[in-house]
Amino acid sequence: MRTCNVFNIERFATEDGHGIRTVIFLKGCHLKCKWCANPESQKQQSEILLKVNACISCGRCQTICREKAIFFDSEYGYITDSKKCTLCMDCVEGCYRNAREVIGKKYDETELLNEILCDEKYFKMSGGGITFSGGEPMRYYKLIDSIANQMTARGYNTLVETCGYAPTKAFAAIKDSVDYIYYDFKQFDSRKHKELTGVGNEKILENLEWLCQNYKGFLAVRYPYIPGCNGDQDSIHNFFRYMTKLQNVQEIIFLPYHRLGITKYQGLGRKYEMGELPAIRKAELSFLKEEAKKYGLEIKIQ
Ligand code: SF4
Ligand code: SF4
Repeated sequence: MRTCNVFNIERFATEDGHGIRTVIFLKGCHLKCKWCANPESQKQQSEILLKVNACISCGRCQTICREKAIFFDSEYGYITDSKKCTLCMDCVEGCYRNAREVIGKKYDETELLNEILCDEKYFKMSGGGITFSGGEPMRYYKLIDSIANQMTARGYNTLVETCGYAPTKAFAAIKDSVDYIYYDFKQFDSRKHKELTGVGNEKILENLEWLCQNYKGFLAVRYPYIPGCNGDQDSIHNFFRYMTKLQNVQEIIFLPYHRLGITKYQGLGRKYEMGELPAIRKAELSFLKEEAKKYGLEIKIQ
């Protein structure tokens, strides 16, 4: 039986795709984007997150832990060393403030489908379905393919949000079962891409080009606009130029930089690499619409 590690299930989502959606966030990603808003998604295995705003630094969890996996960090508080932690849950249950949380829950395919189908009436009334997000959901492509087929059989749709870093055979496996693919594009220059995310972009571009040739569903490309990383003129124009060469991309979406993940970095005892860089409002990116028009492209800013 195929299994996956889920770190969040968001219900009643309406942002991407059609209708009311249930979003399944799957754990594990090869990339380590500096601005990642879900740092708890990056490791495949489950881990303990400290909710820094709820913690009163009483130190009880450190006393409880038999593995001596909890250490006090003067900047972040009572952080867990995931190499020592056995996920016994003693500290989670022993914290009176509910300030410790296990990130990640294993599901097999049947359990996940049953969880999804709790929302079936909303899919039915709205024309919605499910979204696999992450992390990088394509790590679990066989499970996605199987669940997507079962959704189709019931008349609901499936969307996958991907960073594109996966074997091409993974995309080949889901191309007929998944209705929408939202594909992230971070930087055209592979050397810079590696500095920003930890990996070069060759495989990502190769898969995107493969999808443009072979995928018959709805393909959107999303560009997270991050000043200092990919917001300069060269990066933007290289992206637009590349987009003019691709066929079958049905939507190009810019996502303004935000800072919503910061407390999660703190709760994992990790430094937030973007420092004090201020968040961007949608309106600040409206100039990109004019730039895109110069290439004959239309974009959305989300
Ligand atoms: S996580 Fe809970 S038990 Fe640990 S120091 Fe904070 S409040 Fe105390
Ligand atoms: S889950 Fe168990 S092993 Fe892990 S930090 Fe908490 S008490 Fe220690």
